[in-house]
Amino acid sequence: MYDLTVIGDGIAANLFLIEYLKKSPQKVLQIHAEDKALPCTQNTTGTIFLKGVEMGRSPLGDLIYRSYHEAASFFKQHNPPGINSATLFYVCDGKKDTKAEFIRRFETVEPIDNFAPTPHRPSKQEWGKTWDGFVLNSTPFREYLDKTKRDLGQGNLEIKEDLLVGVQNGSDHISLKLLNGEVITTKKLVLCTGAYTKLYQKIYPEIPVIANSKIIPGSYLETENVDLGESTFVLARSGHNLIYHSEYKRLIIGATHQLGELQAPDYANLQAAHQNFSDLLDVQLPPISTFSVKSGLRHRGVKKLPFWGRVEGEIYGIFSLYRNGLTFPFLAARELSESIL
Ligand SMILES: Cc1cc2nc3c(=O)[nH]c(=O)nc-3n(C[C@H](O)[C@H](O)[C@H](O)COP(=O)(O)OP(=O)(O)OC[C@H]3O[C@@H](n4cnc5c(N)ncnc54)[C@H](O)[C@@H]3O)c2cc1C
Repeated sequence: MYDLTVIGDGIAANLFLIEYLKKSPQKVLQIHAEDKALPCTQNTTGTIFLKGVEMGRSPLGDLIYRSYHEAASFFKQHNPPGINSATLFYVCDGKKDTKAEFIRRFETVEPIDNFAPTPHRPSKQEWGKTWDGFVLNSTPFREYLDKTKRDLGQGNLEIKEDLLVGVQNGSDHISLKLLNGEVITTKKLVLCTGAYTKLYQKIYPEIPVIANSKIIPGSYLETENVDLGESTFVLARSGHNLIYHSEYKRLIIGATHQLGELQAPDYANLQAAHQNFSDLLDVQLPPISTFSVKSGLRHRGVKKLPFWGRVEGEIYGIFSLYRNGLTFPFLAARELSESIL
């Protein structure tokens, strides 16, 4: 019997395992199914910014603020691969995001004369706001988390690749059934299962926080070998982002909610975003046909609130990580590991 089993291999599962294994020498199992349930963490646009969120305005704002600072101090302390400092230029569009709307939301609006520190200038006078933050490249960052977790878990951590298809909550243990028929027993279970928590909700206890959550598919365009300068930056306008990750010469345009199936992204919307940013930067971006489309499943909790804590009995979870889903796990992993040890 395992002391603790974690389901998932996204950012939530791996940060939780790192925090837990740092503190406990118990027998731990990790189960995940990359080929059957692709982690959203792999296909994410990876922007990490506070965008003016302050403490004391709302419970969600407080969580966003505290998580952002938890993540930023982790990046500063460990300097992990895949994470780079970046500047976000949030640009008025004169339609929904007017100058008046910026003043209402952020108290000020500023002229943007150039997308400093990039060499690019707006094609005409633009207005908006600028913030510092980070951009994440999933592949190197996930490799770093995986290695850190394995190093900490030497002798205690076992990893199985399969899909969890059944959960039975007994009086002193939990039985887990895998797709290959194997049955495993564990004392504690931690679900870091992202949008799949909702997709496979029948296998979990019936609780409102899962039942009332939603799966929100998203897609974006990505291409490599693009040189837009030495700085990493994000342009945000009319609900779209252009992300340039200079270390990896990676260019992303997105993200849109997807219409229909995973393989049918909203190309018309993505094409509009591509045109929007070509005009804004006054630069010839690579043609849209050279970008590949990446898609992922986001998990939206009730009132967009993330969830971490006890689900039922000895079943715990970190899920419903929607907007700011890449920073919530830093706070969630520390708080949950401290509370269940
Ligand atoms: C297009 C797009 C753009 C985004 N952009 C941003 C952004 O700019 N900034 C930001 O902060 N966030 C962004 N997000 C959200 C962010 O990526 C997610 O919130 C975050 O990655 C969720 O991580 P997670 O660990 O909770 O879930 P996931 O990464 O989805 O991991 C879930 C894991 O659970 C496993 N699993 C689930 N069920 C089972 C089962 N039954 N058996 C075995 N394994 C199972 C899966 O295999 C997977 O490993 C974006 C998301 C998308 C889709």
